[in-house]
Amino acid sequence: MDLKRIQSINLAQILEAPGTKEASGVIEDAIGLEKEQIALAEEARWSVTVTNVGEEFWLAGEIHGTAMMECRRCLAPTPVPVHAYFQHLLRYQPGTEGVQLVEEPEEDVYFFGTPDLDLSGFLAEAFVVELPLAPLCKEDCAGLCPVCGANRNEVDCGHDQDAEPPHPLSGLGALLGKLD
Ligand SMILES: [Zn+2]
Ligand SMILES: [Zn+2]
Repeated sequence: MDLKRIQSINLAQILEAPGTKEASGVIEDAIGLEKEQIALAEEARWSVTVTNVGEEFWLAGEIHGTAMMECRRCLAPTPVPVHAYFQHLLRYQPGTEGVQLVEEPEEDVYFFGTPDLDLSGFLAEAFVVELPLAPLCKEDCAGLCPVCGANRNEVDCGHDQDAEPPHPLSGLGALLGKLD
């Protein structure tokens, strides 16, 4: 088994004693939470430290990699570099299943129930939050022709470059006219 592919950190040594643990690894192919998987153009690398700060644990980490998304305008596969940082407060609560967010008045705390802390949720969340809503293959991507669908980065199909798609209600006037 390749230890570097396990997204967790073992905190047995610092559960009852002050100290800091470090871990790092890689995520290949895809990252995400359950069904929401984002394809990776390049593997993502992560590293974290967890420090026992008394009652609680302080998790700080970073992840960087390149997601493969779709250009919002022309749909071309578009690599999107991501560099994300995160930090969370944790509390060891034996019996907790997995990692659970508990919202508290002062600060949200994540409870965990085993010395082996699963990091996959923290890593995926930090990464996905950094993704752009409308990725572009290049700043001036010309997009697809609204008339014929041609990729205007590659061909000049000859249609009016400023043509707007027909307004969905543009046929309504004619229709109303017929009703008179
Ligand atoms: Zn594009
Ligand atoms: Zn066209």
